[in-house]
Amino acid sequence: MEKSVRSRRREDNESFYNPILPIHKWKDELVRAAKDNSFLIVMGDTGSGKTTQLPQYLYKAGFGKNGMIGVTQPRRVATISVAQRVAEEMNCSLGSTVGYQVRFDDCTSERTVIKYMTDGCLLRNTLADPDLTKYSTIVLDEAHERSLSTDILFGLLKKQFQLGSRKRRKYPLTVIVMSATLETQKLSLFFGNCPVVTIPGKLFPIKERFLNLIGPRDKDSTAYVTETVKVTLQTHLNETEGDILVFLTGQAEIERACNLLFKKAEAIDYRHDLYDRSVEGLLILPLYGSMPTDQQKRIFLAPPAGIRKCVLSTNIAATSVTIEGIRYVVDSGFVKQLNYNPRAGLDILEIVPISKSEAVQRAGRAGRTAPGKCFRIYSEEFWEKCMPDHMIPDIKRTSLASVILTLKCLEIHDVIRFPYLDHPEEKHILEALKKLYQCGAIDRTGCVTKLGHFIMEFPLSPNLACAVIKATSFGCQELLLPVAAMLSVEHVFIQSGESQKQKEAGQGHEELSQLAGGCNDFATLLYIFEQCKTSPKPAAWCHKNGIHWRALKSALNVEKQLKEIANRLKENKDFPVEKFDGPRNEMLRHCLCAGYFSNVARRSVGRTFRTMDGHGSIIHIHPSSAVYLGEEGRQGMCLDACRSRHTCIQAFYAGSD
Ligand code: ADP
Ligand code: MG
Repeated sequence: MEKSVRSRRREDNESFYNPILPIHKWKDELVRAAKDNSFLIVMGDTGSGKTTQLPQYLYKAGFGKNGMIGVTQPRRVATISVAQRVAEEMNCSLGSTVGYQVRFDDCTSERTVIKYMTDGCLLRNTLADPDLTKYSTIVLDEAHERSLSTDILFGLLKKQFQLGSRKRRKYPLTVIVMSATLETQKLSLFFGNCPVVTIPGKLFPIKERFLNLIGPRDKDSTAYVTETVKVTLQTHLNETEGDILVFLTGQAEIERACNLLFKKAEAIDYRHDLYDRSVEGLLILPLYGSMPTDQQKRIFLAPPAGIRKCVLSTNIAATSVTIEGIRYVVDSGFVKQLNYNPRAGLDILEIVPISKSEAVQRAGRAGRTAPGKCFRIYSEEFWEKCMPDHMIPDIKRTSLASVILTLKCLEIHDVIRFPYLDHPEEKHILEALKKLYQCGAIDRTGCVTKLGHFIMEFPLSPNLACAVIKATSFGCQELLLPVAAMLSVEHVFIQSGESQKQKEAGQGHEELSQLAGGCNDFATLLYIFEQCKTSPKPAAWCHKNGIHWRALKSALNVEKQLKEIANRLKENKDFPVEKFDGPRNEMLRHCLCAGYFSNVARRSVGRTFRTMDGHGSIIHIHPSSAVYLGEEGRQGMCLDACRSRHTCIQAFYAGSD
């Protein structure tokens, strides 16, 4: 009897999936709906099993026979961690049946059928294969995030069908859009009234408290980090068992918060006289976008008995990844957001209050497996006055230059009448076209130039790609490729939370910048890269100089890939060849200015600068920059300039003449 039950189980392959996930009951309906429709929308709460299970259902139902099942994610970390998880569930090694592709890291093979990838990767892949002939199914996941690439893919997939690409493909393409909170009605209408399958989730009750530590007047201060850390410790001290999830905004901030917590933990370990009970039994784990994979895995492991896990995360843990066992959420109320600033003509990274719906989503993470609590460090007044109801989609907020160049390369010339789910402002589109024209990527008629096609070959922002191409045409790519690589990986400088260590690290970094020639952050990056590459013991060198060896390893790998692209392009007879000679740092400056010509500023009074884009807005150099420390009146290149305390402009040239 028992045997027959077990064999039936195996037939159903129940153990193949996680049987407790809400999506499981909907397996047959989902597969049927996917078979019957070209477009399908799946709505289900975060953690219901959409990302990890649906692709497996499709695979079992034979969807992979005529091409891959491609699943997009807006975030790199989520892409890798989900692929790992699914490979484990399917009992195969990563890169075989289940694989992933993110920028600079392709872990797929001939055998790959389920392919997780970032939405940016799929968008790039459409350049080489506009009809997506390699895929039988495209799953656009996390649609509610409304990332720029996903939004463009919505339009492209809709458009491809309108244009009758179905005739060009051997088999019809199935498109599934998955979302946790999006207005599915609107999306269904967009895709010709396609059906929506809703998976009801289950959430335990969550007690929500406003702690009034941050009010409307603290909107622009960084006080929320220390307050969040305090609340985390209080939660650990006062609450019964269950893990803690803390929401902060970015890597540097998370590292600082972890250090504040670690400092107490170190006191337990090494200095018994300073024994601090508050972090006893707390396992502190960071989670942010550019984290290496081996570290991400630890997030999902259950903590040892008697230990409480505390994950400090960016918004990624709000919807993209689900961590089991979380019963307490500490919400800082802030998020890092890329906003296009038309006055500066740049995307500016800003720390802004989250929307009310994001706050609800964050709180929801506490009630997946048991009743939970959410501690909001801000006040109700902050909620009312500073937090918008919903987040504005990226497409209305960020620079469109890169995606418009992609569309143009796909021969979609009328970028204004492209089917956008939410139409960006026309002046934003025109601004992007102007920028592309200025850097020579498109011509007067709006067509992509040869240079534009070369720019698209690099998985970099058009500005950076432009700088790299300039260097390659001068024959000095060995100066720019390392810089581009260093800018494409996580932050390389170790930031220690302890003031003494911080000081030492700061001095170390200052020395490095002096050795690199001073007053140029990019030259410092180049110097670090070269030192590492030539050092017999690179890991030790990094450790000694306060540099993340992990980040450097990635940078070495990225540089190799960029070099391959550059070398390939140089073979092209149309690739530009120019002559320019000068000292190293001058060459570097020249190439970077070719790409970032709109980021130039002139010194004004004291430490302030004015942009030279016609607006002349006032900016400050970030204190961590070599230019900040430089003598007054000198030229320099810095990585970050600030408009206010919270806004950073990247890659910036500041000179006095
Ligand atoms: P949804 O996409 O609906 O939000 P997921 O498919 O991401 O749901 O998650 C389903 C389950 O799989 C969750 O219980 C989650 O904890 C688990 N899970 C997802 N990724 C991993 C991973 N990398 N390691 C361990 N468990 C994971
Ligand atoms: Mg998901």
